[in-house]
Amino acid sequence: MPRWPERGARPYDSGVQEPKRVAIVGAGPSGIFAAQALLAHPGIAIDLYDRLPTPFGLLRYGVAPDHTSVKGVGNALARVFESPAVRFLGHVEFGQDMSRKELLGAYDAVIYAAGAAEDTEMAVPGENLPGSESARSFVAWYSGHPDAAPFRFTGVRSVVTVGVGNVAVDVSRILCKTAADLSPTDMPDPVLDELRGHVVRDVWIVGRRGPQHASFTTPELREMLTLPHVQPVVHDDLDAIDLTTLDRRPKANVEALKIAAERLVPDASLRLHLLFWHRPIEVEGRHRVTGLTLERTALDADGRLIGTGEERTIECELVLRAIGYRGRALDGVPFDEKRGVIPNVLGRVTDTRGRVQPREYAAGWIKRGPTGVIGTNKSDAAETVAALVADLPEAPLVVLEPVEKLLHRKGLRPTSYEDWMRIDAAEGELGSRFGRSRTKIASWPELLNIARGRGSDGTATPRER
Ligand code: NAP
Repeated sequence: MPRWPERGARPYDSGVQEPKRVAIVGAGPSGIFAAQALLAHPGIAIDLYDRLPTPFGLLRYGVAPDHTSVKGVGNALARVFESPAVRFLGHVEFGQDMSRKELLGAYDAVIYAAGAAEDTEMAVPGENLPGSESARSFVAWYSGHPDAAPFRFTGVRSVVTVGVGNVAVDVSRILCKTAADLSPTDMPDPVLDELRGHVVRDVWIVGRRGPQHASFTTPELREMLTLPHVQPVVHDDLDAIDLTTLDRRPKANVEALKIAAERLVPDASLRLHLLFWHRPIEVEGRHRVTGLTLERTALDADGRLIGTGEERTIECELVLRAIGYRGRALDGVPFDEKRGVIPNVLGRVTDTRGRVQPREYAAGWIKRGPTGVIGTNKSDAAETVAALVADLPEAPLVVLEPVEKLLHRKGLRPTSYEDWMRIDAAEGELGSRFGRSRTKIASWPELLNIARGRGSDGTATPRER
């Protein structure tokens, strides 16, 4: 296999002894930042695992396709794979293909960087009706994730997004954009066709607290509020908010909303409603969504959110909940169910009683929860790697099974970085046919066929090795 040098013959060897082997579970930004931080320490061989055949995680499947400057971070992260000390092992699923015990039997240390794979639920009646979806599934679909189920916009004229964070802004902005705006993106062709043809006329963003409490960031908010053909409608009395009491970001957010509330867009094709101080209490509909009933909220004397009993229903055909993500437990790895993270101290995994688990570490959203921007993962990973490197000399001596032997024994044929580069080239070529820089390939068989050098119409099945 290319770029898989024999054990003991690694060009990055310190020359003194066998390199220490570190496995990273999850090849998204936090995992790659962890690898980058490890590279500063000679004599460490790093294997980045991912269940997908492609690296980059949320950078590829979470950052909005129209935010191309953020995607540029990918170029910097890609350089990490240029080091001979780093290997990508795609299409290997922790828990299913490889157990905790097996990884710990093959590596001196393991870093879990698996992100936040679950959605927070609204826990209201009707939440599971067709047409009530998580923002994550919508993002996965328009980002060309191979597991995503298709969205259909037939008959959808009004969409309500619940939550006022940056994910809510992303999904609402994508809905507000025109076909011409979306055409240059890397969305798969069927996604582009569906979004180009939608007839949505009203997009609602609903926050359960006030505009001054929203977690979206001001540049993202402004970008959405100033889309040329979109009429913003702010349903709150912004003048009632005392700006002098606010910190910089909430103040800038409220100011941006005030400007938007004054904007008159003569030939608007779509209205973007911002409604605060309302929480969902029921998704309406018998066979599919027909509306969302909300209750007006307020803060009590102790600053707690309470319902006022005043209700209203917004007619809509699609509800997108963008109310946060949470980590998913990894088979056999300690997990804090309440917080949805791996319990840890400075990145060192602990059990639920706080006892450190030797040789196990966590980084990124599975370590601290789903907060911050991509760059936040850099300092987060640096903290974890500092702990790991400090522990290495003291780590208990274990006889490791060579990884190559383990993979062979399990019949696993991971995709490599070279395989990813074939997918990358194929997507570039597909895009160039229509003047786009890339068109994502969203099917498992196609991705695997291209990775295996067989062309997209080969015969591989999703689980073929
Ligand atoms: P978030 O910023 O935590 O926002 C979640 C929103 O959901 C909040 O408004 C929260 O309100 C609300 N919420 C939570 N539970 C609710 C419930 N039961 N009912 C109604 N509303 C509820 O999370 P996110 O938007 O998922 O973003 C995750 C992270 O990714 C953030 O750090 C974000 O900045 C980042 N991100 C960044 C970008 C970008 O930079 N362009 C894009 C996407 C995501 P309360 O505040 O009242 O709890």
